[in-house]
Amino acid sequence: MSSSVALRLPSIDGLLRHPACAPLAERYGRDSLLTGLRQLLDELRPGVVSGQLAAVEIGPEVLAGRVGERLAQQQRGQVRRVFNLTGTVLHTNLGRALLPEEAIEAVQMAARYPLNLEFDLASGKRGDRDDLIEGLIRELTGAEAVTVVNNNAAAVLLTLNSLGARKEGIISRGELIEIGGAFRIPDIMARAGVRLQEVGTTNRTHARDYEAAIGPRSGLIMRVHASNYSIEGFTARVPTAELAELAHAHGLPLLEDLGSGSLLDLTRWGLPAEPTVRQALLDGADIVTFSGDKLLGGPQAGLIVGRKELIAKIKKNPLKRALRVDKLTLAALEAVLGLYRDPDRLAERLPSLRLLTRPQAEIHAQALRLQPLLADVLGEIWQVSAIEALGMIGSGSQPVARLPSAALCCRPQVSKRWRGRYLLNLEAALRGLPIPVLGRIGDDALWLDLRQLDDEPAWLAQLPQLQVDR
Ligand SMILES: *Cc1c(COP(=O)(O)O)cnc(C)c1O
Repeated sequence: MSSSVALRLPSIDGLLRHPACAPLAERYGRDSLLTGLRQLLDELRPGVVSGQLAAVEIGPEVLAGRVGERLAQQQRGQVRRVFNLTGTVLHTNLGRALLPEEAIEAVQMAARYPLNLEFDLASGKRGDRDDLIEGLIRELTGAEAVTVVNNNAAAVLLTLNSLGARKEGIISRGELIEIGGAFRIPDIMARAGVRLQEVGTTNRTHARDYEAAIGPRSGLIMRVHASNYSIEGFTARVPTAELAELAHAHGLPLLEDLGSGSLLDLTRWGLPAEPTVRQALLDGADIVTFSGDKLLGGPQAGLIVGRKELIAKIKKNPLKRALRVDKLTLAALEAVLGLYRDPDRLAERLPSLRLLTRPQAEIHAQALRLQPLLADVLGEIWQVSAIEALGMIGSGSQPVARLPSAALCCRPQVSKRWRGRYLLNLEAALRGLPIPVLGRIGDDALWLDLRQLDDEPAWLAQLPQLQVDR
């Protein structure tokens, strides 16, 4: 028979004085503890009123323990390091490129000390933050001038608004793309105040289509890298050089949004070819935009490079002020760009390139080494194998290209109807580790692609804590 005596929650004051709470006040501060206790008691009250909670569940020690866990979690922060074993190297949801040591040091310096962000040390006069990296970007791309904003989406918005507002922007229907996170070219054009003048078809657009669309209201021709999809089969696309000639014959600028945009020819490292910024400019594009944290391997930024008078116009746009980069980004960007001056050592020094070019044999050897350790922790119900797998670059670079890699493939040895649940439980357990491990589920297995497992000791150290629900 249940007791008829109504249960009562301990008072806040009583809890604060309780010895179990004293160390928490010491560690996290009295205010945080008070807030935590209030929240917890508010959550428990309905359960107490309805009689669903037992006395042991609201004892002071139990409550102190629960508050302590929460405070610890809050102190750890919401921004957390993870292991990206998804197989996608430049993973937008996982922060894309990892910075090289040189850039991390530069960021620390910029964070810790005052710096010449907008101060010209030579003349002692006010400076322009773009000047800090302009020389380097000009050297690496052959551009006349440069300006940098917060990301490539901002670069596209700013460029379109500066050069095409209240005019028509001509673009092929095959390039009206959507990139993750609701970035759609037609919407960005509209927001930039550019009237969309679409030409050609999804799979085929010819020079004559562009030509027929050019009229007195035309402001620019735009070209967008298809990024995250590919058009194959019966296709036609006007080469940039030809499109530039056409644009210039009518006095229009050609903008090219390269998306990832590489500074160097990636085929020298055996990677799939991506258009380079230098080539787009050589072909006659007047402005080229690209990301800082995709193939470039740097911080989040949008780089706008091209003809001097157009860059000057872009820099005068009040939107530039709203979209400008901060000092930490500039410091990191300069350091990353500096590494590009020595391409021979780039693959050793730039983490994204190093990871993208890691040989499959090396990854497979790592998988063979780790397989028995993971198998041991997971127990008999899981079959763990070290096998070849295919990863990808990510961030819209070469959507169909695959990177030959190797993975730990975990298959639950249970009947088909239970497999899904086992896989989800394993996925959740890996995600619940102190440094969450993120893999991918596919083909009735959970795959941990090891291309990006750099910090093997940290990964191994937390393995014994893995506990998978059945
Ligand atoms: C990724 C991408 C963008 C957006 O770049 P962010 O740096 O993510 O803002 C714009 N255009 C193309 C073609 C892209 O691939």
